[in-house]
Amino acid sequence: MPSRYDILFQPIRLGPVTAPNRFYQVPHCNGFGWRMPQGMSAMRGMKAEGGWGVVCTEETEIHHTSDLSPFFEGRIWSDDDIPTWQLMTDAVHKHGALAGIELTYNSHDASNLYSRASAFGPRSMGITGGSGYEPGQTRAATKDDLKQVRRWHRNAAIRAKRAGFDIIYCYAAHNMTLAFHLMSKDNDRADEYGGSLVNRTRFFRELIEDTKEAVGDSCAVAVRFAVDELLGTEGMQFDGEAYDIVSMLAELPDLWDVNVSAWKNDSTTSRFEKEGNQEKYISFVKKLTTKPVVGVGRYTSPDSMVSAIERGIMDMIGAARPSIADPFLPNKIKAGRHEDIRECIGCNICVTGDTRFVPIRCTQNPTMGEEFRRGWHPEIIAPKKSEDEILIVGAGPAGLEAARALGQRGYHVILTDAKREAGGRVALESALPNLNEWRRVIDWRLTQIQKIENIYFYPSSPMTAKDILEAGAPHVILATGATWRSDGVGRHLSRPVPGNANVFTPDDLMNGKLPQGKVLIYDDDHYYMGGVLAELLAQNNCEITLMTPAPTISYWTQFTLEQDRILKRLHKLNVTLLADHCLASLSPTAATVTNVITSAESTLACDAVVMVTDRIPNDALYLELKPALTEGNLKSLLVIGDAEAPNIIAQAVFGGHLAAREFDEQIDLDVTPFKVER
Ligand code: ADP
Ligand code: SF4
Repeated sequence: MPSRYDILFQPIRLGPVTAPNRFYQVPHCNGFGWRMPQGMSAMRGMKAEGGWGVVCTEETEIHHTSDLSPFFEGRIWSDDDIPTWQLMTDAVHKHGALAGIELTYNSHDASNLYSRASAFGPRSMGITGGSGYEPGQTRAATKDDLKQVRRWHRNAAIRAKRAGFDIIYCYAAHNMTLAFHLMSKDNDRADEYGGSLVNRTRFFRELIEDTKEAVGDSCAVAVRFAVDELLGTEGMQFDGEAYDIVSMLAELPDLWDVNVSAWKNDSTTSRFEKEGNQEKYISFVKKLTTKPVVGVGRYTSPDSMVSAIERGIMDMIGAARPSIADPFLPNKIKAGRHEDIRECIGCNICVTGDTRFVPIRCTQNPTMGEEFRRGWHPEIIAPKKSEDEILIVGAGPAGLEAARALGQRGYHVILTDAKREAGGRVALESALPNLNEWRRVIDWRLTQIQKIENIYFYPSSPMTAKDILEAGAPHVILATGATWRSDGVGRHLSRPVPGNANVFTPDDLMNGKLPQGKVLIYDDDHYYMGGVLAELLAQNNCEITLMTPAPTISYWTQFTLEQDRILKRLHKLNVTLLADHCLASLSPTAATVTNVITSAESTLACDAVVMVTDRIPNDALYLELKPALTEGNLKSLLVIGDAEAPNIIAQAVFGGHLAAREFDEQIDLDVTPFKVER
């Protein structure tokens, strides 16, 4: 039967190749890179299996003089790299999708810490790769050097074709790559690669022409181009030079993949931007070219996707994060199973795979990154091995996921929660300012649980150890969460802060108990909570100081690409920011604080203190029930999620999923439970 969504499944010609549908997994980093090719390939293959018509690599270094260490990206330095990429192209082709490779030469955005080579830059300039502040500069590329880079790019394209790629990129986005920098304000050259826009675009044009000439007979040549840097007239602008560049090159590539730059602007979190936020920047491109256009904007709604195509914004729906949260998104739309789509929540935990140099993780999809090493599939799980019943106490992210996945295996599951509403910490946190999309963690799981008839959910059911034993289930999983500490103990302080003050915890604030007047937030947690609570209290007209012993406010949010935006918002709300300080003592009207570098003490007047420090695992039930296990009254007893070890939501979901996968399995604690790539 024809459907409104058919347009998403129309094949589309990209130069000499044809994509089977309009779902395009754009290049995205994953922390596997060249170091773990099996993990990377299995992850990409899963996207193809789930229906993505095009599946691309991450940025892939073409030469050792553009070495992106300490990050693990792709490498196609020599023919020796071809077999690695064949793993991926085979995995993608197996499911009828096209494979794309994003070739890159990164100029001053390459740290070259591994190769120790000098990268070529538009001029000799400070390296911005690695930490962003690595000592050293690039070498100014002569015209001969540019010729060499073109040759390296051409050779890499030929290798990529031999490795089986169907789409080969020329990359000029994310405020990265020599081609982009030559087009930008960094170019002060006096030769025919500098000065006029025609000159500054010359190198990018040459890369595209070289690539077409080398592989264009059988591969599509795509460009990835950032049409705006959100820097005003200081950077590339969609209604400025970007417009002219697209006009000049309009028909040259086989495909335009367009976005905004830098990465923090491209992959904005849901706390700051919503679905489709890039449309206003990229929509001009289709008016200037007849070639297909791909764009991104964290589209998870099939209706928004259809609309973006119908309104002429793009021809193919580009996605990194929606394809990570749900590799089977296209197939679910095709089957009319829209409610089964595991929608990305826009938290950027996936990004921390790259920024922390580890395999990709996802809050919504606990199987992401585990495809090869644990053999996990996002849609398929082993059937039950026994008829045993399982009681799960606590319906936060850990308990919900454990129940859902055990239910999917076919087990009889009883899930209880003391509260009237499921979701635990996610229900509370998603009600904080601008975190409402996080509710998707609960919504998707509840929708699935409602469909599985062997899961019985009992809300408003607080359980004691006695209740649990009386319930009679032989297996008990405790997912009872954690409680924020109120005494200041955390990473920095190992003893309670002395003194008497009006102390609040995040739990208090999230449950509606709010301080008034001058409030000091002490953040030894360093992720989103301190900043989000400052936003909440600003709405409540408090006068706020956000203080942390770390060198910067909300330190860890740099890894989710959010820190700049958080700081900007806090400044706008007139929150006083105080880094490098910790609590020394408290009184009802003031806090004595210590500079962690100089040990100098000072006094801050405050009516209340909010402690965002460590959490205490709610493991009392576990300790109470352990004797029942020892005495044989329970067959198994497990504590998972924040009750086991407080962590991020992604870890709670993962813990729940792991518990379900490992249920009824013999686990040998002496053996690493996943394959290690060496
Ligand atoms: P996690 O992140 O590990 O899933 P949460 O704190 O989000 O943990 O969720 C824990 C859930 O467990 C909360 O919804 C809480 O109401 C529930 N809970 C805690 N103790 C009990 C108990 N004794 N009986 C029933 N539910 C409980
Ligand atoms: Fe989306 Fe968060 Fe998963 Fe990334 S980690 S794909 S942002 S849900």
